[in-house]
Amino acid sequence: MDKICIEELKIFAHHGVFEHENTNGQNFYVNAVLYTDTEKAGMLDELSCSVDYSKVCALLERVMTENTYRLIETAAQTAAEAVLREFPAVRAVDMEIRKPEAPIDMEFVSVSVKIHRGWHRAVIALGSNVGDSRRYITDAVEQLCACPQMRNVRCSELIVTKPYGYTNQDDFLNGAVLCETLLSPHGLLEFMQEIEKSAHRTREIHWGPRTLDLDLILYDEDIISDPDLIVPHPDMHNRTFVLKPVAELAPYYRHPVLGMTMMQLLERLEKK
Ligand code: ADP
Ligand code: MG
Repeated sequence: MDKICIEELKIFAHHGVFEHENTNGQNFYVNAVLYTDTEKAGMLDELSCSVDYSKVCALLERVMTENTYRLIETAAQTAAEAVLREFPAVRAVDMEIRKPEAPIDMEFVSVSVKIHRGWHRAVIALGSNVGDSRRYITDAVEQLCACPQMRNVRCSELIVTKPYGYTNQDDFLNGAVLCETLLSPHGLLEFMQEIEKSAHRTREIHWGPRTLDLDLILYDEDIISDPDLIVPHPDMHNRTFVLKPVAELAPYYRHPVLGMTMMQLLERLEKK
């Protein structure tokens, strides 16, 4: 992807752990790389087809001066997310905040934090079979929509399905969400678990009755096998109640391990 680079943007601000840093302030330097497609702008010689770097600089100055953070980690993350939200054509950013006047009693050139953030495509499956299931699911979708680290949240139709695994329980209501997110896979899982908690979810029987279950089905083309997170979801290809809503939203999304699209996986499962 093409890059637009901003180097050593000097901003006087008040970030720091020490009180004197918050009172007196010091110079910070921002380096930003914006990943965006410049082909059309390059062809038409037209600024409105590209990202206006002077507007990005103004936004960086606002983020850096209108807030006082203890950590440059927070300053970098807030700045990166602000650029990604305000300039939709920017797919990802490298953001470095340098602090050459940091309070270190030794000779040094500079300290800095350098991060990479970007928009990622994610698919989440939702299910409920206790209480007002439709309400639990629509509330969960609203919470996903309201999150500043999410955009383009689209929800499938909700379908009534028979229980899976532990079958001595009420029917389920199932659906899926396709979205773009700035959160990492683990950050997204944590946020999903907070939403489950807000629906008074308790974990009693594995695959048992639940007010709300959110599972991370797909995240870009990532393959993750951590103790607490497996993506693509390890059983998604065996579950019609997952594949049906997912195929409705993203029929051509390809399973990164099995190599088949959501539509193909659904057709294969329905033939079985
Ligand atoms: P299930 O969804 O299989 O009925 P739970 O919702 O109770 O089970 O989840 C149990 C654990 O599964 C969670 O604590 C989580 O860490 C882990 N887990 C692993 N991979 C995923 C995933 N892709 N999506 C959601 N949870 C996952
Ligand atoms: Mg779950």
